[in-house]
Amino acid sequence: MSETQAPTKSDANQRSPFPNPDQQTAKKLAQTVERAAKVFADKSLRFTKLRQQVFEEIAATHASIGAYEILARLGDKGTRVAPISIYRAIDALLDAGVIHRLESKNAFFACRRTDHTVKGRRPIFLSCEKCGAVGEVDGQHIFDLIGEAAKEAKFTPRIKFVEVQGLCPRCTAAAEKA
Ligand SMILES: [Zn+2]
Ligand SMILES: [Zn+2]
Repeated sequence: MSETQAPTKSDANQRSPFPNPDQQTAKKLAQTVERAAKVFADKSLRFTKLRQQVFEEIAATHASIGAYEILARLGDKGTRVAPISIYRAIDALLDAGVIHRLESKNAFFACRRTDHTVKGRRPIFLSCEKCGAVGEVDGQHIFDLIGEAAKEAKFTPRIKFVEVQGLCPRCTAAAEKA
């Protein structure tokens, strides 16, 4: 496909920060897990069985999930581990950049963008107040502006994230219909 060709409908959907959760298939989940495994391999980190299991639970939701929910879901599947092990696995996944923490909810979601970690650009998180969906879009210019404003004030900023609360495209459409 040439660069100039208009994106097809499925391309556009893939590129949306809010993919349709109904289209989350086992195949897509497997591809997401494969991508995460590759990130670990590229960084010479071990994608242990527990790290993979924790990642799968996080990637399986289009929303975000807390550590205790992950613990409960793994328990339902017969994997009983101590909370500290879950937290360590989460830390490893955060460090590798394959998941992000939603500070407002103390919950985690899988990174679906493949470019921002490569280019070193930072995303901002868009969090739906209604259905819990989380998306990310490029926000490097926002971090640059914050950095400049802080520098002018001779202030050393320590921002790790920017979260925007609101309504995702599906909830916006549903609200307009009502
Ligand atoms: Zn990300
Ligand atoms: Zn929503």
